[in-house]
Amino acid sequence: RQVLVCQGTGCLSSGSSDVLMGLEKEIEAEGLADQVKVVKSGCFGFCMQGPVMIVYPEGIFYTRVHAEDIPEIVEKHLKGGKIVERLLFHDPVTKEPIKAFKDILFFKGQKRVVLQNSGSINPENIEEYIAQDGYLAFEKVLKEMSPEEVIEQVKKSGLRGRGGGGFPTGRKWEFARKSQDKPKYVICNADEGDPGAFMDRSILEGDPHSVIEGMCIAGYAIGSNQGYVYVRAEYPVAVKRLEIAIRQAKEKGFLGKKLWGTDFFFDLDIRLGAGAFVCGEETSLIRSIQGLRGEPRPRPPFPAVEGLWGRPTLINNVETLANIPRIIRKGSDWFSSIGTEQSKGTKVFALAGKINNTGLIEVPMGTTLREVIFNLGGGIPNGKRFKAAQTGGPSGGCLTEEHLDISLEYDTLLSVGSMMGSGGLIVMDEDSCMVDVARFYIEFMRDESCGKCTPCRVGTKRMLEILNRITEGKGTEKDLIDLEDLAEIVHENSLCGLGNSAPNPVLSTLRYFRKEYEAHIYQKD
Ligand code: SF4
Repeated sequence: RQVLVCQGTGCLSSGSSDVLMGLEKEIEAEGLADQVKVVKSGCFGFCMQGPVMIVYPEGIFYTRVHAEDIPEIVEKHLKGGKIVERLLFHDPVTKEPIKAFKDILFFKGQKRVVLQNSGSINPENIEEYIAQDGYLAFEKVLKEMSPEEVIEQVKKSGLRGRGGGGFPTGRKWEFARKSQDKPKYVICNADEGDPGAFMDRSILEGDPHSVIEGMCIAGYAIGSNQGYVYVRAEYPVAVKRLEIAIRQAKEKGFLGKKLWGTDFFFDLDIRLGAGAFVCGEETSLIRSIQGLRGEPRPRPPFPAVEGLWGRPTLINNVETLANIPRIIRKGSDWFSSIGTEQSKGTKVFALAGKINNTGLIEVPMGTTLREVIFNLGGGIPNGKRFKAAQTGGPSGGCLTEEHLDISLEYDTLLSVGSMMGSGGLIVMDEDSCMVDVARFYIEFMRDESCGKCTPCRVGTKRMLEILNRITEGKGTEKDLIDLEDLAEIVHENSLCGLGNSAPNPVLSTLRYFRKEYEAHIYQKD
């Protein structure tokens, strides 16, 4: 028998370390240690129902398990073979208990490629990753493929950057390969900072080796022997699992040693970020690793030509890199058969806000917003009406009821004034005030502006002042005109993407919910 207990940050915060300890103790006390193996797993994604556990071989999925439930689980299920019904997930409509997690709508509608191992292996044990074909892709590229063939494979797959920009990954690799200067570097951007987003954190917590393997393959493809994972210090579980994974990969010889009779080796270190949103921007991130203040610089030159310490540098996001071993193992045709014409593969979304199933899902690109919110997400709590969903974090925009049937993919989202971003999806219901939503994001951007250029530094501050006046019922018609003018100025004249996109939540709420702004101004009573 095997019992998997989720040790992702979501479940840990609802007490899963006590559940794990209690289970291990009880199994020991009942003399079952040689019959039941307890495995610490990464995030299952069903964070709202945590702490969660699965009992194999039956695959029984228990939710909201607490330390007090452990004696009953051990006595009734592990010893007596009977299911503890009250801990099963109950279908919100039929109220019927569901035994296996694959039968729950939240999981049924998913296609787990990047999250395949999250929740099913122990991320602190490299052997479990290897047992799932881990590091086979790295071996394959070194033994059978030239760097150019690897890049061609990634280009053919159609993979686009999952960090927000959606730039074709293979082309980025090609630019870095063509740069002649040496040494070259590979950086994994794990500086996830959008409010409500936790995709990268969960991947690093649940399957860190897939990111490390992706970086090894990227290093071989562009001709780099050194990589860095830039991860925010506020992710202690992810950092700890990454440290363990890097140490184990070094002990196994996957990092820091020449492999399989070739001359290639790749080494990896972690650099901790201090939680500045702007350090997710490539050039700021590079300065931060160099020990400088995290501020963007104008591009070109792009990092692929002049990056870390002035050398060619490839920067990819966590989810992008975690896709790479799967693409190499299963082929570009397999990957490009998932998704849509312009957006291939799957996308991980973090569901948050006014939605029943808060958590992490992975769906094929092109899945509709309706499917995500009402099927996988379980709809809006308390029978309230859906009002809007913010995609793309503070740089994105909101989608409304009229967009429920659009497909979630890069270009479609841009065409309606939002963006894919890194995958944060925050849902608002009929009680949410969209002016408050815009005010929240502008306040976030005002705080996170690095201050280097005036349009962003001063513009976000002035926009926040106007939004404060409007939400306090002191706004005027002129405020609304000034707000729109400022939004355009900040968008057009800021130096980096953070400032360029800072006004997006204001512009999109003005576009779809102008009446709410006007109500604050004209209906003060
Ligand atoms: Fe800094 Fe904002 Fe200017 Fe970017 S746009 S450089 S974050 S002040």
